[in-house]
Amino acid sequence: MAVLERSRSIWFCTPWERLRYLRRMLSDARNALLSRTQELAAQFLSGLDQRPVGRPVDFDELLDRAGGPMPALGEDPLCTIEHMARCFDAVLTASAGPRYFGFVTGGSVPAALAADWLTSAWDQNGFNFFTSPAAAAAEEIAARWLVELFGLPRSTSVGFTTGCTMSNFTGLAAARHALLRKAGWDVESQGLFEAPRLTVIVSEESHVTIFAALQMLGLGRDRVIRVPTDAQGRMLASELRARLNGTTAPAIVCAQAGNVNTGAFDPIAEIAECVREKSGWLHVDGAFGLWAAASPNYRALTRGIEYADSIASDCHKWLNVPYDSGVVFVRDSNAHRTAMTLSAAYYGQRPDAARDNYNWVPEASRRARGFTVYAALRGLGRSGIAEMIERCCSLARRMADRLSPGPGVTILNETVLNQILVRFNPGTGDADSHTAEVVRRVQEDGLCWLSPTTWHGLTAMRISVSNWSTTEADIDASADAILRCANV
Ligand SMILES: *Cc1c(COP(=O)(O)O)cnc(C)c1O
Repeated sequence: MAVLERSRSIWFCTPWERLRYLRRMLSDARNALLSRTQELAAQFLSGLDQRPVGRPVDFDELLDRAGGPMPALGEDPLCTIEHMARCFDAVLTASAGPRYFGFVTGGSVPAALAADWLTSAWDQNGFNFFTSPAAAAAEEIAARWLVELFGLPRSTSVGFTTGCTMSNFTGLAAARHALLRKAGWDVESQGLFEAPRLTVIVSEESHVTIFAALQMLGLGRDRVIRVPTDAQGRMLASELRARLNGTTAPAIVCAQAGNVNTGAFDPIAEIAECVREKSGWLHVDGAFGLWAAASPNYRALTRGIEYADSIASDCHKWLNVPYDSGVVFVRDSNAHRTAMTLSAAYYGQRPDAARDNYNWVPEASRRARGFTVYAALRGLGRSGIAEMIERCCSLARRMADRLSPGPGVTILNETVLNQILVRFNPGTGDADSHTAEVVRRVQEDGLCWLSPTTWHGLTAMRISVSNWSTTEADIDASADAILRCANV
């Protein structure tokens, strides 16, 4: 065998030949490792819709099995991968699969998953044009496609973040920059000490990550004015107007496209008009709801989104791209860039038209996130995205229709999108604890997975249909399981 011959002769060849031989051995071993990894991934994916979606895990036992002392000596990477698969496979959450309805969780469309593998193999630093022209191009193209898909102004700048939390952070940092610059203050160089006042207006239903972003930006989580909402969680535009009229400081208004419980949309067009009259900044959190704008049937829900100054969204939720993939859009690209950029002499001069990804996100060195988004958009196309959004929404309605005739079942929200809130009334006893108990039983049953929430003081089961691979049969089987758990 060639390998044996080589190994016999390895000590009798030139150093250069020896090096080539070792490289070749390493490369053979790596190929074997990656093939085995591909096999493990394929096994996982093909069993995904048969495994329990969630299951109780003994965490200490898991730590013991997978952990122990840090190894003193390294081992063959193939052993490491086999060991990982053995330790973790049995406790994996099947959140990539078709019957995971918890939080707002997408899986991975095949093109995005495959692109994610390539992204790791390529190991590009997505930092700037020089570190990876390919990563810069992927982000630039995906950015243009998304701006077009959502009907945003062509000059909109786009950053690819780790998720919607950092998208909210980035959009609000641009807001902070723009409003303080107008007031004659350079917040990036001078900070907020002695800066002119800003007013921050949120709704009673703003997502927790808006507050996380405000807390990181020095704008204060509690130093906000809260606008009341209607029964579906939509901000009341008239109430917003009254509050805007009551403040003289420049205002950042945080609206929402897609309430995380009900899926409801704030009236963005009306809100945008109020904000424009006061020369404020409108930030919209559209983590999953923005994707409604990609469907002709649901686009009306986002009416006025093109007037937003900044929009935060996710690709790892409804676009079904692997984690971690968020996106932020800012209408005033100068404000966006000034709030995020860094500069150092060694970064080098790039061609004028080229993109430096670091200008649009909080990080420097980073994963080349554009590839997966590019692949998802290309793989699905406009029609595929619209179809995926519409299918999830109609499956959510199907779920609501199957559950609502059940004894004691109430659907608490108008099913306008992909979110459903369900409450279970026992014949006798407390509906809050009964609903929590039904959720617990469904989680334990393992056919599907969903989580509890509190909606306007009521405990509810929250169901989010966001996965590209969910079918009508998955919905029907899940609805049967839920009703079974409600009526034991
Ligand atoms: C999920 C979500 C976020 C946070 O997004 P991450 O990607 O988890 O950081 C923000 N807003 C809304 C409405 C969400 O649903």
